[in-house]
Amino acid sequence: MIESINEELCTGCGSCDLCCPMDVIYLNEEKEKAEIRYLEECMTCFNCELECPTEAIYVDPIKAEKLQPW
Ligand code: SF4
Ligand code: SF4
Repeated sequence: MIESINEELCTGCGSCDLCCPMDVIYLNEEKEKAEIRYLEECMTCFNCELECPTEAIYVDPIKAEKLQPW
């Protein structure tokens, strides 16, 4: 699950918002920063972390394992 977006590193490019297959990330255009909006929808696909040009996003693989439904 996405863990954090580092505002100091974020340039507001919007790549993470565009590449997220769910509705997790929201680009706050006033602040020109990406924000986590619907955390519970994250499916830990790592797209955002891979696409971010400044490595501002951290997706935690361990939390995803804990969310398995068994
Ligand atoms: S890991 Fe995938 S689903 Fe989760 S916020 Fe990033 S792009 Fe969206
Ligand atoms: S991809 Fe990275 S730099 Fe671009 S808006 Fe998202 S967090 Fe910010």
